[in-house]
Amino acid sequence: MSQESSLDQFMQSLHTLDPLVSEQQLQLFLRYRQELIEWNSRFNLTAITDPDEILCKHFLDSASLLAVYDSRQAKVLDIGAGAGFPGLPLKILRPRWRVVLLEATGKKVTFLRHMIEALELREIEAVQGRAEELAHQQAYRASFDLVTARAVAALPILLEYAAPFCRMGGQIILPKKGDVTAELAQGKLAARLLGSILRADRAVTLPELEDGRRLLVWEQVKKCPESFPRSGSAMLKKPPGSV
Ligand code: SAM
Repeated sequence: MSQESSLDQFMQSLHTLDPLVSEQQLQLFLRYRQELIEWNSRFNLTAITDPDEILCKHFLDSASLLAVYDSRQAKVLDIGAGAGFPGLPLKILRPRWRVVLLEATGKKVTFLRHMIEALELREIEAVQGRAEELAHQQAYRASFDLVTARAVAALPILLEYAAPFCRMGGQIILPKKGDVTAELAQGKLAARLLGSILRADRAVTLPELEDGRRLLVWEQVKKCPESFPRSGSAMLKKPPGSV
């Protein structure tokens, strides 16, 4: 496919998610793609390096969250953001959101900070740390309207990371692909312990994205008990909800 037609298609799909997406936002995505490719040749940030694939598998896939969550203002946490997905594309599309990109690996945080500066974004920060530690700090606990994480861990563990950060009535949106029947059953058991409940399981049906993408939308209906999240090793040994 020619560069131009893949860009046109990208814009068309973005339009279905956000009819007001602008030329200026497209330029931010293009700069982001250029920097990602450049940095990736020096540091291993992402396995997806083809320019067209970056548009659909990273940018569009991240933007698809808008199909289930679109509020004018929101405080958003992206756990294990890696090279910025899904938090950074969401910030480009929703400049008024306050976004925290949490990432454990230093070189990825350096890239995220570089991107924030290069794109001149405000009210977004990249924090280096581990979810299971940061969630016990008062400044972060139960304070986000939306918590998300893509490709970071299995569902029960992801929920244990995410629920303590989510305010009551807030949402946790976890993109997943493929058959997650067993994971989902365990996730639901975990959610009970963590004060969350599954509100929606929505298929993502954008033409450029592979089949089987879905968004699991959880609501934080109770305060998450202070004992969560446990240490990483405790979680792995006994994921929440396991018997
Ligand atoms: N979310 C990005 C994406 O979809 O492209 C990155 C996915 S990558 C497979 C998983 C990322 O999560 C890694 O960059 C890793 O360093 C980070 N990570 C894993 N466990 C974490 C934790 N407990 N706290 C913070 N970051 C974590």
